[in-house]
Amino acid sequence: MPAPWPYQQLPTPGWPQQYGGGQPTGGPGPVACQICGAAPAAPVTIRGHQGMLVIMRFLKREGMFCRTCALASFRDMQADTMVLGWWGPLSLLITPFTLLANLGALSGIRRIPEPVAPGFRPPLDPGKPVFKRPAGILALIPMGLLGLAVFAFTALLAIGLVAGPSRESGASSDDSGRGLSDYPSGDYPTLTVGSCARNDATWPYENLKPEPCDSPAAQYSVHLWTNDSCTSEDHSVGPSYSKDHDEPLCLRPLKG
Ligand SMILES: [Zn+2]
Repeated sequence: MPAPWPYQQLPTPGWPQQYGGGQPTGGPGPVACQICGAAPAAPVTIRGHQGMLVIMRFLKREGMFCRTCALASFRDMQADTMVLGWWGPLSLLITPFTLLANLGALSGIRRIPEPVAPGFRPPLDPGKPVFKRPAGILALIPMGLLGLAVFAFTALLAIGLVAGPSRESGASSDDSGRGLSDYPSGDYPTLTVGSCARNDATWPYENLKPEPCDSPAAQYSVHLWTNDSCTSEDHSVGPSYSKDHDEPLCLRPLKG
């Protein structure tokens, strides 16, 4: 009988503790996970953040990890950050970037092949995906609020950009862009009987402005109602345009 096989197969009891220290480094072969010893492994950096009102902690787990250990580390750090990351004014800003950076790291982790060479101990337990943990579900609240805040800020900015310039132009130049509805009651331009006017809108909409009768822009002469009406070719406008807001007016076309 030759020597029994177990003697050649079983590692010595002290081997796991010696791993890394006792093994030659830099030699050929795939790099091993520094947590469990499985191969292949790749450099992984996962970040965490904790806000504590005025102080905060930046956490970092960095090293050569196998796919399984790296995924477990990612999920733990991400879930912890989702719960502990928000509790400070600066942390509110830092945490989203930390979470996003970890998502970048996750795409790298997913490119590490499954372990082929087992290590000296089982790999870390990846557990449930982040959003199937209570931490991930709780984190939907601050993340949702933050999303709303960003959305509201963007919307306000957009409204400001659109409304700001047009309001300025409306105030600085009085001759364009204002419809009848833009005039509050009592803010109608006064059309003096015997003078001329133009309509910057298209009938039946009115955007009436006084216009000197010798101006090429003048379109109508302003008349009082006669016999309680205007002629058929006139445009009848309400009393708001008259000097004392008490007499309806007729606008008689100057040309045609
Ligand atoms: Zn590992």
